[in-house]
Amino acid sequence: MTETRIQRVAVLGATGSIGISTLDVIARHPDRFEAVALTAHVQAERMAELCAKFRPRFAVMGDAMRAAQLREMLAGSDVRAEVLFGSDALADVAAHEDVDTVMAAIVGAAGLPSALAAARAGKRVLLANKEALVLSGRLFMDAVSESGAELLPIDSEHNAVFQAMPASYVRNPDKCGIRRILLTASGGPFRERSLESLRDVTPEEACAHPNWVMGRKISVDSATMMNKGLEVIEAHWLFGVPPERIDVVVHPQSVIHSMVEYADGSVLAQLGNPDMRTPIAHAMAYPDRIEAGVRSLDLFEIARLTFERPDVRRFPCLDLAYQALRAGGAAPAVLNAANEIAVAAFLERQLPFQAIADVIAATMERAQGLSVDSLESILETDARARQLARAELAARQVR
Ligand code: NDP
Ligand code: MG
Repeated sequence: MTETRIQRVAVLGATGSIGISTLDVIARHPDRFEAVALTAHVQAERMAELCAKFRPRFAVMGDAMRAAQLREMLAGSDVRAEVLFGSDALADVAAHEDVDTVMAAIVGAAGLPSALAAARAGKRVLLANKEALVLSGRLFMDAVSESGAELLPIDSEHNAVFQAMPASYVRNPDKCGIRRILLTASGGPFRERSLESLRDVTPEEACAHPNWVMGRKISVDSATMMNKGLEVIEAHWLFGVPPERIDVVVHPQSVIHSMVEYADGSVLAQLGNPDMRTPIAHAMAYPDRIEAGVRSLDLFEIARLTFERPDVRRFPCLDLAYQALRAGGAAPAVLNAANEIAVAAFLERQLPFQAIADVIAATMERAQGLSVDSLESILETDARARQLARAELAARQVR
């Protein structure tokens, strides 16, 4: 073991899919990890259960009402968590001196300020919240290098890429001879459905991912392949590779989690069962390897691995994300904000599935003169792009 002291972990988004998998890994290794802070947005009851099990020092809810609910639920018990609320409290626990490691697993742009606070405070940052990097790539990576934070990717593809890269990459990327990053994509639940039938897709169908169990927003992103688009942008910032050297390969079995091709023709891949506890445990224990509760990969059962090119007509969101990355500046932040609004509208049955891409494209066309130089300007850009996307939604409902 390289580290004997117990790592004190803040799990931001503890009630979510990644949060619960993280707590599962923590519970398997009480000699290594301690959950000192847990955060949720609205699920006070779930949070009370987690507090009873993990006994954190801090529990953060989204607002005063939810915090009061949680306090009331804990009042009769022997749980002594300090209950806080709001985005300042999230950033405070992420940067707290008694926290070593921050799992950034809040969904959407809402996760940026706390993830950035962790990066600025020089923590070990386990980044699941890809939207944070899409919004603030340069600012976030600068914060990591200035503070000496350790950034480890949780997204399974980026964690796979990280595993397929030499340890010297962070210090000397030019000497590693990387030719391409190959991000694998399952193709989601609609890879083989007829284009016509996509018109009537329901949120339930979109959230029924063939290989992964995830939160609703990322499940819809997987169905549109915007998830892969956001991951291309994420890979660009994490590994400093330009968009023309990041390729997407549809691989329906989700066994190869991504690959790196080198100048000598070698292609290194990371394989495993699709279970997020693998990348979570990898990043939490890095550079050690620990038990994660994931069953062995049975290659005989899987039998064949297949690969396809992404269908650009079926998945226009993927192309929109490449466009945003090439355009640079505020374009990825606008893309992300419009996507969040459009996906929420789809989940509320206010927008047809195939119109998600249209709302994003229209918002990107309209958004002008926005900047992403500071956290404040990024949040303003995010708010402005959301306004534009909502106006586009409203115009569609009138039409
Ligand atoms: P979930 O929707 O399952 O969970 C989201 C978590 O964030 C919950 O704890 C939720 O609290 C909290 N939350 C939601 N909105 C806010 C807000 N406005 N402010 C503060 N907290 C909030 O999401 P996932 O776990 O699926 O995804 C989390 C992140 O990880 C996303 O960025 C996603 O892209 C990324 N990711 C997820 C993967 C997966 O397998 N799930 C794989 C790779 C990346 P509450 O429960 O109280 O609402
Ligand atoms: Mg992923």
